[in-house]
Amino acid sequence: MSTVSERDVIVVGAGPSGATAAAALAQKGWDVLLLDRHQFPRDKTCGDAVPAGAIELLWRLGMREKIEKAVERGELYPLEGMLLVSPRGHELHARFNHGQQGADSYVAPRIYFDALIQEHAVASGAEFCQGRAKEPIVENGRVVGVRAQVNGSVKEMRAKLVIGADGVTSVIARNLRPKDEQHVDGHRAVALRAYIEDIQELPKEVEFYLYKNILPGYAWIFPIGKNKANIGLGMRLDHFRKKKYNLEKMLKDFLEMPVIKKRLLRGGQLRDVATWQLNFGSQKDLQHVFDGALLVGDAAGFINPLTGGGIHNGLVSAELAAQVADDALKANNVSRAKMQVYEEQCHEHMWTSMRNSFWMQRTFMHFPILVDFLVKRMKENSALAKTFLTKL
Ligand SMILES: Cc1cc2nc3c(=O)[nH]c(=O)nc-3n(C[C@H](O)[C@H](O)[C@H](O)COP(=O)(O)OP(=O)(O)OC[C@H]3O[C@@H](n4cnc5c(N)ncnc54)[C@H](O)[C@@H]3O)c2cc1C
Repeated sequence: MSTVSERDVIVVGAGPSGATAAAALAQKGWDVLLLDRHQFPRDKTCGDAVPAGAIELLWRLGMREKIEKAVERGELYPLEGMLLVSPRGHELHARFNHGQQGADSYVAPRIYFDALIQEHAVASGAEFCQGRAKEPIVENGRVVGVRAQVNGSVKEMRAKLVIGADGVTSVIARNLRPKDEQHVDGHRAVALRAYIEDIQELPKEVEFYLYKNILPGYAWIFPIGKNKANIGLGMRLDHFRKKKYNLEKMLKDFLEMPVIKKRLLRGGQLRDVATWQLNFGSQKDLQHVFDGALLVGDAAGFINPLTGGGIHNGLVSAELAAQVADDALKANNVSRAKMQVYEEQCHEHMWTSMRNSFWMQRTFMHFPILVDFLVKRMKENSALAKTFLTKL
């Protein structure tokens, strides 16, 4: 086993959260190694919906021009609104607000979106390395690096600080969190995503379908261009296991619904069908800070339990983590005690929304009729719709 020289920071995982943390820390002048098991561009199973708040966070990181160019190339598809369909077929169309600084929301296939941020991290000064982290190196109770498989051999990579951004299956989180602190099925979901090439899309609108067999969860159609959309469905894992559902069959059934079937131009041509898991931020009291390490994004488990959205929270957590890491590195103190403020800040930024969303998710599951009632009322009252939608 070979050892490589010590870095200031190793970020494990170059998805949106890891690449954002790496870019922010490199811009602050730290020596950052960004490690990912894949070369970029690479796909990530996702609905690809990126809200305006996430775009504005990337603007702050210096990515405005890159994003505008990607929009011009047609890689990011701008959105104007959404359609919500209730179990009894009531429809609510609502327009999206722009972000506080005027940004649009997008459907941004992750093959493009993630590569854009990863490239920006490298342009900001981070060094990218393709390699699979096997485990954190822990000495005297402190994380001092990662052991990783690089070019067929295992390397010890040392750093003052490790940021675990390796997604929902994070080896960093799994090794550092106590065994009784892993996500439980009631705060997890499983989802299937595909791209469809022959659908009459609703231009510039993302569509959400809530119906009896899918609650607590939903099916979606998110447009990415003419007749093309990201399509999928997901539901809470405990419920999914109990009912012994099959996601591929559920997607077929969804495509057979008359309201969808009539929009399929050649019967529903799917590509890149894939399933993946989601860890919700509604599970309480999980540790995100360790001596020498921080967790961000899906590795920490910051997905909204109602919408399934995790990109914005991932970026928020990365921005917070980079600031806390910068302070800790400057003070030459990367202890849990010094960096614990990161957990408090994540709580402050995300907890109210996680708690409310989880409550709504459970209520909708037990009382689908409430979804019908709400959608009907919101249709009649745009102020109520706005209040509700801004909570999501
Ligand atoms: C089906 C589905 C639909 C979704 N739809 C949406 C949506 O529309 N909008 C939204 O906001 N969110 C959505 N989400 C959630 C969203 O995908 C995640 O919240 C988001 O990807 C989190 O980003 P991340 O950078 O934290 O993790 P990831 O994007 O998972 O990135 C983790 C990175 O770590 C790397 N990695 C993993 N293990 C290792 C290892 N051992 N060593 C080195 N590298 C490693 C991976 O290759 C990957 O590049 C969806 C999730 C699913 C499953």
